[in-house]
Amino acid sequence: MVCTNKWSDNDAEKLIDKYKLKGVNKDLALRTYSARLLGSEPEMVLHGGGNTSVKTVTKNLFGENINVLCVKGSGWDLATIEPEGHPAVELTPLLKLKNLTSLTDEDMVAIQRKNLIDPKSPNPSVETLLHAFLPYKFIDHTHSIALLSLANQPDADKVCLKIFGKEMVIVPYVMPGYDLAKLAYEMHEKFKSNISSKQEKLKGMILLKHGVFTFGENAKESYSRMIEVVNKAEQAIPRQIKLDLISSRKLDFNKNDNYKIIPYLRGLISGELVKNGAFKRCIFEIRNDQKIIEFSKLSNLIELSTRGVATPDHVIRTKASPLILDEIPNFNFDSEKNKMHDWLKRTKESLKKYMREYQHYFEFNNQRVGKIKKHLDPLPRLIIIPKFGMIAIGNSKKSACVAADIGQVWIETLLSAESFGEFRPVNEQDTFDLEYWSLEQAKLGIQKDPVNSGKVVIVTGAGGTIGSAISKVFYKSGAEIVCIDKNIITAKETAKMCGENALAIECDLTSREEIEKAFKEIILKYGGVDILISNAGIALPGELYEMNDEILLKSLSINLLSHHYLSQQSLKIFKSQDYFNQNNKDLLGGQLLYNVSKQALNPGKGFGAYGISKSALLALMKQYALEEGHNGVRSNCVNADRIKSGLLNSEMIKNRAKSRGLTEEEYMSGNLLNSEVKANDVAKAFLYLSKLKKTTGSILTVDGGNIAAMPR
Ligand code: ZN
Repeated sequence: MVCTNKWSDNDAEKLIDKYKLKGVNKDLALRTYSARLLGSEPEMVLHGGGNTSVKTVTKNLFGENINVLCVKGSGWDLATIEPEGHPAVELTPLLKLKNLTSLTDEDMVAIQRKNLIDPKSPNPSVETLLHAFLPYKFIDHTHSIALLSLANQPDADKVCLKIFGKEMVIVPYVMPGYDLAKLAYEMHEKFKSNISSKQEKLKGMILLKHGVFTFGENAKESYSRMIEVVNKAEQAIPRQIKLDLISSRKLDFNKNDNYKIIPYLRGLISGELVKNGAFKRCIFEIRNDQKIIEFSKLSNLIELSTRGVATPDHVIRTKASPLILDEIPNFNFDSEKNKMHDWLKRTKESLKKYMREYQHYFEFNNQRVGKIKKHLDPLPRLIIIPKFGMIAIGNSKKSACVAADIGQVWIETLLSAESFGEFRPVNEQDTFDLEYWSLEQAKLGIQKDPVNSGKVVIVTGAGGTIGSAISKVFYKSGAEIVCIDKNIITAKETAKMCGENALAIECDLTSREEIEKAFKEIILKYGGVDILISNAGIALPGELYEMNDEILLKSLSINLLSHHYLSQQSLKIFKSQDYFNQNNKDLLGGQLLYNVSKQALNPGKGFGAYGISKSALLALMKQYALEEGHNGVRSNCVNADRIKSGLLNSEMIKNRAKSRGLTEEEYMSGNLLNSEVKANDVAKAFLYLSKLKKTTGSILTVDGGNIAAMPR
């Protein structure tokens, strides 16, 4: 894939004009423009990777001109960067650091922060000093796949010299930070002094086993040189690089029951994560595009997978190597469970081996650095299963996708490097130093751990008022949300409010077949299920004595049986997830949460079909609490009343209020607290129940107080 030069003078001008109105100078506007161009190309930059800078002038409070370096701030992504994503650091004090012989990381960060023009800015990039020391106005840095395929060759210096000649300074691998900045600067100075004629143009710098820098006197020059260098690298590689992150998410597992092993695997990994004090549950991102499959089938897969990361930066997202599992045998889930159990047994052994090896890696290297490092969890972030694909692991769907993208970049780099010669990236020690470098770990950000992070929550009737409120409340609590509704349009509307990774599914909940299909989709998207919020319901009116069977059966089908079908499917997943945790007192378990109604306790005249089915649902909740408690499954319900929603719409409220001689407001707040109960109150009650670890078989009433409907 040849990278195209996307520079447009017209677009650049437009951005200059736009930011001028906000007081941003031309240099920084152009810096923003070309940084975004680089960020739009996953072949070069992914997920906060790469960094860019411009040297410009700003004014202080006294109106004096100050020379500054505007350099990418941590936490910003080049693809979506804004001018404040390149915080300004006073340049002169940074340049003074060139004269030191060494500088600790802490001092480096402190001095960079101290010289920020705006103290509220994020930390400048860990590569700030390199940007500062090189005497160019614009500097671009990427971890291009094509370049890394060459820079990760065993004789990369010779290879790069042959391809790039005197266009590029070639710097051996040194960990980012002060030492690298100083070495790069010194090598640059030496190189420059050796350039004999003015025709020879120095375009950039290759950092072996790390990435590439280009520079220029203006944004266009530096950016264009990056494209030129990357394309030159690409042309030198026999294999064509084609990174396709999007289509690889299309999965087709229709052919067999293989996909059913996924929740078992999720449970195994989650159980180990809990034991190792890392996150509580993991979310999967499964990819199986042609390249991944091609890679997974290589006869030397195991050896290749231990070679290392494509650029050291990646280690914090993917660990140094993936876990390689055996091929999954073809089996029939219902009649050939033995085959699956054998595979699962081997999988557990492979995981244990991976963890032991990680432990050795940590202990050996920690000893080397004086036992000062704090142990990170020993679990993999990527799993490769031959002919099946790659599973990326994260504490959220988002972080799993980041790991998957980086996994694909790694495979691309490795295959391309092997097609040219041999993939020999940074060694184990250097990888460890980066993985356990505090400045690198800081990139992951302070782990906010909302109560339901890593959990997959299904909400039925998600398109309705209450279902939508529940979905939003659980999304805010950190969960991944599956919005199920018979109406896909409203399901999608709710999903849209629950982040980019929420899933909307159209499903007739009275059909076991459709429920099974929906669960397959959920497993393939997230890896499993943790909480079912069975909320969908129907309120059909009519006096019992003249009710035809159709109405009663329909009520029972939607208000009772569908909840039962969903619970059965959820329990299947919960049990699969706990397959390896049977002897463990910390079962992952699961939760069943039902929306029963006040009608279950206090029937209303003319609502028999509704009340009877809801009473049965209450009994269903208790039965599941009784039968599944020992599996760590909690079963609870919310008893709500008089909520403005699809079941009690404006028209109904108007009529009921009128028949009671009340205003609508009086009718809606006709409870002991004289306060209208809203969908959000119901949603919060579900969230509250989800947190009560010692509560099962319970009814939580949310009706503002109704003496006749009190459970006891
Ligand atoms: Zn870098």
